[in-house]
Amino acid sequence: MAPETPGHGPGGGNQTQETLSNLLQETRRFEPPADLAAAANVTASAYDEAQRDRLAFWERAAERLSWADRWDTTLEWNPPFAKWFVGGRLNVAYNCVDRHVEAGNGGKVAYHWEGEPEGDSRTITYSDLQREVSKAANALLELGVRKGDRVAIYLPMIPELPISMLACARIGAVHSVVFGGFSATALKNRIDDADAKVVITADGGYRRNAPSALKPTVDEAVAECPQVEHVLVVRRTGQEVGATDRDVWWHDLVDRQSDQHTPEAHDAEDPLYILYTSGTTGKPKGILHTGGGYLTQTAWTHQAVFDLKPETDIYWCTADIGWVTGHSYIVYGPLANGATSVIYEGTPDTPHRGRFWEIVQKYKITLLYTAPTAIRTFMKWGDDIPAKFDMSSLRVLGSVGEPINPEAYVWYREHIGGNRCPVVDTWWQTETGAIMISPLPGVTAAKPGAAMRPLPGISADVVDDQGNSVPNGGGGFLVVREPWPAMLRTIWGDDQRYIDTYWSRFEGMYFPGDGAKRDEDGDLWLLGRVDDVMLVSGHNISTTEVESALVSHPKVAEAAVVGATDPVTGQAIVSFVILRGSAEESDDIGAELRAHVAKTLGPIAKPRQILVVPELPKTRSGKIMRRLLRDVAENRSLGDVTTLTDSSVMNLISEKLPSAKSED
Ligand code: ATP
Ligand code: MG
Repeated sequence: MAPETPGHGPGGGNQTQETLSNLLQETRRFEPPADLAAAANVTASAYDEAQRDRLAFWERAAERLSWADRWDTTLEWNPPFAKWFVGGRLNVAYNCVDRHVEAGNGGKVAYHWEGEPEGDSRTITYSDLQREVSKAANALLELGVRKGDRVAIYLPMIPELPISMLACARIGAVHSVVFGGFSATALKNRIDDADAKVVITADGGYRRNAPSALKPTVDEAVAECPQVEHVLVVRRTGQEVGATDRDVWWHDLVDRQSDQHTPEAHDAEDPLYILYTSGTTGKPKGILHTGGGYLTQTAWTHQAVFDLKPETDIYWCTADIGWVTGHSYIVYGPLANGATSVIYEGTPDTPHRGRFWEIVQKYKITLLYTAPTAIRTFMKWGDDIPAKFDMSSLRVLGSVGEPINPEAYVWYREHIGGNRCPVVDTWWQTETGAIMISPLPGVTAAKPGAAMRPLPGISADVVDDQGNSVPNGGGGFLVVREPWPAMLRTIWGDDQRYIDTYWSRFEGMYFPGDGAKRDEDGDLWLLGRVDDVMLVSGHNISTTEVESALVSHPKVAEAAVVGATDPVTGQAIVSFVILRGSAEESDDIGAELRAHVAKTLGPIAKPRQILVVPELPKTRSGKIMRRLLRDVAENRSLGDVTTLTDSSVMNLISEKLPSAKSED
């Protein structure tokens, strides 16, 4: 992954030996609760077992699934192309649905679905899911979809979304879910890239108390996609939709199908889905996942990292299914484990800012998985909001998507988890398919802000420029040294880009593009993307550490920092901060925050400028897009903004910096 600016980040021709500075010291520790540890699904011995024989460890994980034919070879590794469970055959949808019904659990709830309009909810048991998925599979067959064909899915967070994915998996079609917030151009590019012949969509979904149309976007996209033969439309909002001769209503086609469908077994290495990365760094990549290895690792990690007890837990992942977190930890992992999950259609502030906590209270959620961006928003809204709800059911909290600042972690633990629930900070990517680095809630004495250790069976490491492991206390590049079951198999249609992007920076190692450090105890901390690393007076400084120092100030809710060219120091740190609800902008807030960072991390990390802003630019998955802030800080016109949620944010920010202007 080439840095965007020459000389930017580690390895960019700097004079210093250190690859990435280790500035932040954190001494807080949280031991696992004794009762959780005593009954944990996974104990410390799993690390030893995997250490002794990694492939045997993954074989045992694969044995948790139902295979029509057992594999002959666990791993076939022709670097950088991996095949797992070669010769094995299974049906992913059967594993996620039918086998639970056959085991007598058909009456168990698979999903409690909660629509955004209050009172609009649906309960779907495993038997219901089996019937619905079978009908949808039969409908796709009637539309001419065959094994290997691609189906684009552009839906709001309604039950038809996982049902459509499972219907594809059942018949061996490859789904490509496109997040419902994307524009017509983004959708068209993804339909074209995957060469999808069917698109599944809805008239619209509910967002912030109002129906929000999807179908016009599909019409616009599909008008330029002659390969699309059918558009299958779910009626959700009842909005007017323009009909074309390719359109067919879900209720006309799917409802009249038989609810019986016999799943056939597919090869473990048959494609399961394509998913485009969220586009934080640039042009999204079509990541390809296959069935056997992917389901093995998503299912294993889900029960390990959340300590899932399928009989008693109620699990809620707040991500959108349009992102990999939703694929792996709303659909495939939890269903393969026979879990009961909640799916919520809307936003956290509708109809009020306590909606999430109301849902936790209503369903007595025990396991909650959300993102730092959401946690920082809740901090900004104030502690009094979650305090109004009974959240005593919660027992494990998870975080994913960005590095979690220690302050946000501690807030999450205290105000959501009542200081009793372990927080698991899970590092992984669209490309890795499943969680790779995370504490285990019954084993790890976790540190706020650290992802801690690679999971059993995963050989992640931190290396310097030359690919040598850094010693404890050192920082550098995160790499994965050995293939893992849920790894991407390639970038769809572009093996060369797969090799160049992930396997060319270091010989024989997978390079995810993230920086990390290994602390004095050997625990791992993620330090943000290496493209974002700042080079200040010969020191490589991570954005994450400076942002975390800013967020540790009581007046700051969120912060983003970037390195801007500086005549004296090479790059200087420019910070954009959002204040907490209760804090007021004062004349000396800049000086106060600069002094706070200098005291926390040392003078080298002191920002040159602090700008108080109302919002930060984020991708549609909620991640901060620092490259746009760098454009502002360096007074350039803005780069690609198509993956931004709200491009007007950039105007608000540019106004704060008198010398900078934005163009969009
Ligand atoms: P693109 O690759 O197109 O720029 P993206 O990287 O934002 O998009 P995802 O695959 O959704 O798309 O995000 C994975 C990235 O998110 C990781 O590489 C890492 O930078 C960040 N990330 C995810 N979880 C964590 C975590 N727990 N700690 C630190 N960073 C994380
Ligand atoms: Mg990425």
